[in-house]
Amino acid sequence: MKKHNFNAGPSILPRVAIENAAKAILDFEGIGLSLLEISHRTKDFEAVNDEAEALFRELLHIPDNYKVLFLGGGASTQFFEVPYNFLEKKAGYVNTGVWAKKAIKEAKLFGEVEVLASSEDKNFTYIPKGYAIPSDLDYLHITSNNTIYGTEYHTDIDSPVPLIADMSSDILSRPVDVSKYAMIYGGAQKNIGPAGVTFVIVREDALGKVSRPLPSMVDYRNHIASKSMFNTPPVFAIYVVKETLKWLKSIGGVPEIQKRNKAKADLLYAEIDRNPLFVGTAVKEDRSLMNVCFVMSEPYADLAPEFLEFAKGKGMVGIKGHRLVGGFRASIYNALPIESVQALVDCMREFEKIHAK
Ligand SMILES: *Cc1c(COP(=O)(O)O)cnc(C)c1O
Repeated sequence: MKKHNFNAGPSILPRVAIENAAKAILDFEGIGLSLLEISHRTKDFEAVNDEAEALFRELLHIPDNYKVLFLGGGASTQFFEVPYNFLEKKAGYVNTGVWAKKAIKEAKLFGEVEVLASSEDKNFTYIPKGYAIPSDLDYLHITSNNTIYGTEYHTDIDSPVPLIADMSSDILSRPVDVSKYAMIYGGAQKNIGPAGVTFVIVREDALGKVSRPLPSMVDYRNHIASKSMFNTPPVFAIYVVKETLKWLKSIGGVPEIQKRNKAKADLLYAEIDRNPLFVGTAVKEDRSLMNVCFVMSEPYADLAPEFLEFAKGKGMVGIKGHRLVGGFRASIYNALPIESVQALVDCMREFEKIHAK
């Protein structure tokens, strides 16, 4: 049976990227060696790294004064690397869920942290707006897409202080005005690659403003100077990112994927809103185009385990909601085809026919 991969992360990748990665593991570019057994300092691999960076720059229109890095450690390492490099006295954070909270916790080790706004009062079902941003902050940190709660900023906000965003789960899903940010980072494994590589896009002149000594591996400037080769980078993961970005370019880049992502999200949210058995958890204006969270409506609450089984029987994978929200979460990242969303919608309709009172 065909599987429909709604996993939240690691998650679906374009088939062609996986096929090319499989080939590269067996014989990398016909050199008679596996991608897994060559030095990262060879011309062959440097070309991979350079192409991944070039594609990232092209697809996201990254200005020349920004550097692109591929690092290890996951987005969670950036939670402390960001304050290490940027927090001298005081930083502002917006608390929009679990990942934001973890970032806040780490930042507190380095200086004063002001939580400017939070949506915790309503279990993170919305994106706070209209709060003041003090001009004396070293930076403001936001989480652009809240993977667990299914909320997302749909525009790039204006900030009078350097803006830093965790875009782990919506990078390259929509156009972003990179010039509005001092730094953008994220784990690759939600939307642009496998687990193991973290992307960092940083404006070079925003660095070097803190007085504390930085461990070499933490200092972004070292990674910039050595073009992401300060130590051994996650070679295989970078290769798959390159292949994924090549695929994205081949289908028409970010404007095209945004169109497709909107169509997928519209289809699924329309069904959630129409079907009396289900109800969405996030407020409509902040609904994520990447992670669609919904639960059984009150009269049908008991049917949740049955729906999960039913959906599983139809090939749906990964739709169980995070334990903090419950219900269901369909992650509909870039590489997920609309046919899979249609299959989930059909499944919800069929379940309604069986159970609607
Ligand atoms: C998954 C996720 C993380 C954690 O990423 P790791 O690479 O596992 O450290 C952080 N932020 C967001 C928004 C995420 O979705």
